[in-house]
Amino acid sequence: MAKYKVSVDKKKCIGCGACVSICPKFFELKNGKSHAKKTEIDEKDLKCIREAKDICPACAISIKNVK
Ligand code: SF4
Repeated sequence: MAKYKVSVDKKKCIGCGACVSICPKFFELKNGKSHAKKTEIDEKDLKCIREAKDICPACAISIKNVK
C-alpha cells in the first residue's frame, strides 16, 4: 500500500482549526498552529486528510507520496 507524508507549513497556518474539526485523528492545534499527529500515513487514511487540505484557507497542508 502506498505511503504518504503529511506536513503543515507553520508559517502559512493561521490556526483556524478547520483541519482539526474535519480530521481530529490526524491534526491538533499546538500553540495556535496545526500539527500533524502522524507524518507518515497509509492510503486508507488519506480521505479526511485530503478534506482537511482542501478546506484549509491558508493552503498550509501538503501531502506527498513517498512510495
Ligand atoms: Fe492551519 Fe489550515 Fe489547519 Fe487552519 S485548516 S489550522 S490554517 S493548517
